[in-house]
Amino acid sequence: MEIRLDLLPAEKRRKLDLEGGLPFGRIFTDHMFLMLYDEAKGWHSHQIKPYEPICLDPAAAVFHYSQTIFEGLKAYYGVDGRIRLFRPERNMARMNYSARRMCMPSIDEGFVLKALKTLVDIEKDWVPREKGSALYIRPLMMGTEAFLGVKPSSEYIFFIILSPVGAYYKEGFNPIKIYVTDKYVRAAPGGVGDVKTGGNYAASLMASEEAARLGYTQVLWLDAVERRYVEEVGTMNIFFYFEEELVTPALTGTILPGITRESVIQMARSWGLKVSERRITIDEVIEGAKTGRLKECFGTGTAAVISPVGCLAYKGKEYIINEGKTGPLAKKLFEELTGIQYGEKPDPYGWIQ
Ligand code: PMP
Repeated sequence: MEIRLDLLPAEKRRKLDLEGGLPFGRIFTDHMFLMLYDEAKGWHSHQIKPYEPICLDPAAAVFHYSQTIFEGLKAYYGVDGRIRLFRPERNMARMNYSARRMCMPSIDEGFVLKALKTLVDIEKDWVPREKGSALYIRPLMMGTEAFLGVKPSSEYIFFIILSPVGAYYKEGFNPIKIYVTDKYVRAAPGGVGDVKTGGNYAASLMASEEAARLGYTQVLWLDAVERRYVEEVGTMNIFFYFEEELVTPALTGTILPGITRESVIQMARSWGLKVSERRITIDEVIEGAKTGRLKECFGTGTAAVISPVGCLAYKGKEYIINEGKTGPLAKKLFEELTGIQYGEKPDPYGWIQ
């Protein structure tokens, strides 16, 4: 498969402007990758072309019934001047997992990863160089058939856009305050909680807004059936470090299988820590916070890598974890992961491309 290159001449290309900092997800690079799908041709018209709006029929499937999936990963500018991707093949695999669940066509993972690398290479001057900053990569697929019936679309568009983003931790690696919601749920058994699909994020907005109004950074989600088991924190996976055991909720279908989560589990195990993927109740967490058996709590995800949690609000009370400070395990995981991503540390796991 050939990718058609329709690139802007050098004089029309913009430069990465660092004046005023880099807000998350508002600045986009000059070019995008795009391909189209229909039932007769399969994926076709692969191209890298100038970044521009997409024109769709108002009856397009995605507008009405949200048949859409996406991914999120980053390209890092290394200390040696080389640009690194962190486990991008895992994002490609997760995209295909999402595609299957949403009755969308699969992508050729190897080919799309090659297209992604070609695009990043074309836009390499957009990868910001400050440690902690990165080029955010957003692949997305959506159903575009103009038809108001509820059924899988017969036509799709897939694109990749790029956005330079600043360091997540500008004011230091500080713990966040979390609101445990027993009112709203993110995902139900048999639903699409383990899929990166737009509707999950739309459905989560109200809980996040309410938490923010109460002064909390994010929501901790409990299971939909009993409101007892911990699932995720905001758009991150969650870990609890008890004496001798690092616990993260098992992937039971309602939790997004995070690539940072997977990496933290592997890394912690290689350090000899006992890591359990199991169901964990909010009562066990609160009890641990009260007695001090819970040493640390942190979220994991591509955006922040590791996000320490210093306070949990549950049923009208606040519980402080590790005196509201960043713990040594969160710090060590953050340093090791970012060290590998920015090429400061060796990559014994073979995670970098
Ligand atoms: N959970 C949700 C709901 C998310 O959106 C994300 C971000 N992709 C994660 C967890 C973390 O996943 P990852 O480590 O792959 O970024």
